[in-house]
Amino acid sequence: METIRNVYCVGRNYRLHAEELGNAVPTSPMIFSKPTHALAQANGDEISIIGSRGEVHYEAELVLHIGKAYTSGMAVDEAVDKMALGIDFTLRDVQTELKKKGHPWLPAKGFRNSAVLTSFVAFPGSGACKQADFCLLRNGQQAQRGNIQDMLFDFSTILSFIHENFGLGEGDIIYTGTPAGVAAVADGDRLALLWGENQLGDCIIRLT
Ligand code: ZN
Repeated sequence: METIRNVYCVGRNYRLHAEELGNAVPTSPMIFSKPTHALAQANGDEISIIGSRGEVHYEAELVLHIGKAYTSGMAVDEAVDKMALGIDFTLRDVQTELKKKGHPWLPAKGFRNSAVLTSFVAFPGSGACKQADFCLLRNGQQAQRGNIQDMLFDFSTILSFIHENFGLGEGDIIYTGTPAGVAAVADGDRLALLWGENQLGDCIIRLT
């Protein structure tokens, strides 16, 4: 895998997903990050995920790759050079406990192999992105289907918000949020990520 710098994620960016977890719909982008050690490639192989700390939920997301240093007002199609699909794995029971305590989400979101990525494809542009759905198949059955038209905060808003608050440069990636349909994985599940009709990657889950 090429060198990836910062791994940003947008929480609750699809209304139906925020609501399915009983969360309020945010009024500004909710950003968190993962360590680069969380990255794992969906190349058909097994991916080991911690299975001893409660439910592990999949969250299928469209992932943007930033190709140059972002400056204020830069167009999305200029800043983003590639895209992929990814899974933002989440220790849901751990996250529920952390939320109750008001603690940071890192233990629930930043564990090893929690940031799964397919191979990258050339970014077709924000407009063209709306023409295709992305989809997660679990053991051949559709588990999640999303379209960026349903995002609460669009790519442009997300990029400028991250730039202003945290910085955004070449090699950074952004998981842009998950649509409804998240659920717990089971040991041996085969997860495949599709962009339109094209499968960009898949993996087998090994709970350890
Ligand atoms: Zn997510």
